[in-house]
Amino acid sequence: HTASPEATLQQYFGYKQFRPLQKDIIDQVLAGNDALVLMPTGGGKSLCYQVPALMMEGIAIVVSPLIALMQDQVEALQRNDIAAAFYNSTQTSSEQSEIERQCMDGKIKLLYVSPEKLLSGTFIEFLQRLQINLFAIDEAHCISSWGHDFRPEYAQLKMLKKVFPSVPVVALTATADKTTRNDILNQLNLQQPETFLASFDRENIRLHVSPGQNRIKKIIKYLETRPNQSGIIYCLSRKSTEQIAQKLKDAGFSADYYHAKMDSNRRAAVQQSFLKDDTHIICATIAFGMGIDKPNVRFVIHYNMPKNVEGYYQEIGRAGRDGLKSDAILFYSYGDVKILREFIHNIDNEGFKALQFAKLERMLQFADADICRRRILLNYFNENFQQDCGNCDVCRNPPQKFDGTILAQKALSACLRVKQQVGINALIDVLRGAKNQQIIENGYHQIKTFGAGKDVSFQDWRDYLQQMINLGVFEIAYDQNLALKTAELGNQILAGAQKLLLSKPTEKTFAKAPAERP
Ligand code: ADP
Ligand code: ZN
Repeated sequence: HTASPEATLQQYFGYKQFRPLQKDIIDQVLAGNDALVLMPTGGGKSLCYQVPALMMEGIAIVVSPLIALMQDQVEALQRNDIAAAFYNSTQTSSEQSEIERQCMDGKIKLLYVSPEKLLSGTFIEFLQRLQINLFAIDEAHCISSWGHDFRPEYAQLKMLKKVFPSVPVVALTATADKTTRNDILNQLNLQQPETFLASFDRENIRLHVSPGQNRIKKIIKYLETRPNQSGIIYCLSRKSTEQIAQKLKDAGFSADYYHAKMDSNRRAAVQQSFLKDDTHIICATIAFGMGIDKPNVRFVIHYNMPKNVEGYYQEIGRAGRDGLKSDAILFYSYGDVKILREFIHNIDNEGFKALQFAKLERMLQFADADICRRRILLNYFNENFQQDCGNCDVCRNPPQKFDGTILAQKALSACLRVKQQVGINALIDVLRGAKNQQIIENGYHQIKTFGAGKDVSFQDWRDYLQQMINLGVFEIAYDQNLALKTAELGNQILAGAQKLLLSKPTEKTFAKAPAERP
């Protein structure tokens, strides 16, 4: 290599030092190895492949799903005097041939392509004629149907390792739970990959959950205390983005709306106006925000319940990229949940449907829990975060707690004795000594902890187990019929090395809405 990673960083990007993990990832790639990179949005994933691409001989191929984003990224690189280009369906064939020629001449260091272009026609044969130094797969969670944004064209990326077995692959994503991560590694067939997991904690974002009644009033009251600050209000439907924007305008705020059905000029104009602080508040569907790098977004409000935790986390991550204090406010109502459940009911694929129900359920549990919101979020991403954050609505108004260590030990021990093969309901049946068909068939009535928790009602066990999942005692294996597995904190509790505080079950908003049993 011609220069050190630090010198390359300084020369092309003008930064003095790497952020945590960036250097380790770059070393891994330079050594010719595969890597899976998990970093929150804004964490600095791009440099992890751009720096090694610039240091090595040859060309790096970057697979990226969004054409608009691709253009922005390439322009930003070109402004830094980096030889980057993109190759996608918006170009004429003569433009494409020109890019091909430049690649052949070794004039391009980073080529961005969409997955469909990569796999179309003779493009792979063209790539085989180049000296490729690495493949970067951006938004890698799109390859997994366990994730929340599956894209069929990504599934074909499996063949990269077959055709280019010796070229290192870096898969990057800002959103993947453990199941999705394993699926990415398997599908891309990464070789002895190392997984780099940056912390998903965004301390500067204050998490707040609020019941959905009188949302507009509550929002207006909130906005009145924050004149001229920028923020996004996510809504479930296109119509509601328009209606809410109108209500805010009527109340004297600088607001507009954004959704996928607007024509592209209008969309670009709204986005620009937001970026330039001309419009302060954007009411939008989740179509808004991907790739928008606006540092001073002071609040993200979810007017409606998101359909899963990954999406929620990604959306709130658009707040406070400058590191300054910001708010994430989630409104939840049973009406929203009903609508989301109806959407899911209409899914054809039974397995996918069950997964979406389970993920929605997890989102509800987040909204409904009496547990530090940040702990729940970070444990969702398997971060084993064991303190309360002090900066969410639950921490600022904490519920009564009791020592639930024995309860947890009973549940953990039962979970291990059924070989971590059953979901919540069956585990409760074991704990409560219920002799139903599934229990008898599997011989669970013969295990030592059978009935060890019969003094606790079914509903209360559900509540406790849900708390334990949220706290990181257990995790849910979404790819194994939602079986409960013991997690890091659980092992410590079983070993007597950790205590567990639980909240008494309370009247929950969603307890009235019986959980779907897919
Ligand atoms: P991601 O792809 O993870 O969302 P980006 O790669 O777009 O994040 O990086 C987010 C921002 O952080 C960019 O403006 C980038 O230039 C900046 N950045 C990344 N790494 C560093 C660093 N080591 N020092 C300073 N700024 C950095
Ligand atoms: Zn907290």
